[in-house]
Amino acid sequence: MTHIITSLCVRDRGCIDVCPVECMVPGQPVAEWPWIYIDPDTCIDCGACVPECPFAAIFPEDEVPAAYTAKGGEYISKVGLTGHFEGTNHHGNPIVLDTAKQLEAGEVVDLTADIKPNYDFFAGGPGYSANDVDDGM
Ligand code: SF4
Ligand code: SF4
Repeated sequence: MTHIITSLCVRDRGCIDVCPVECMVPGQPVAEWPWIYIDPDTCIDCGACVPECPFAAIFPEDEVPAAYTAKGGEYISKVGLTGHFEGTNHHGNPIVLDTAKQLEAGEVVDLTADIKPNYDFFAGGPGYSANDVDDGM
């Protein structure tokens, strides 16, 4: 099994620093791959990344919620959305996303749709080569 980063990820990056097997890669280009992605073949399911995420975006694959109920105010970010998010990440670098949407309290979102992009990023997408063009966001 692997851990999965969901569309609640807004690239804070706190998780990357603690992964003992360095299997978390910031997506590039950001408009096509807006999250950080976990290599499912390398993740050892240690769970160290989970408490480091201020947005609670990371789940064991079999615990990704099919009906995530929004607290209200949190963002999801995924290809196809057109909203704007700005913030500052764990390292103090600016985050700007134009694939975002702010959720309303009580809104229910199926996060299991976010499992496949984690696999696709490494199977047919940029995978670890995205580290070569990392811009810190
Ligand atoms: S800490 Fe959370 S929001 Fe930040 S990159 Fe990791 S999964 Fe995404
Ligand atoms: S569960 Fe452990 S090995 Fe997997 S991505 Fe998180 S920190 Fe890395």
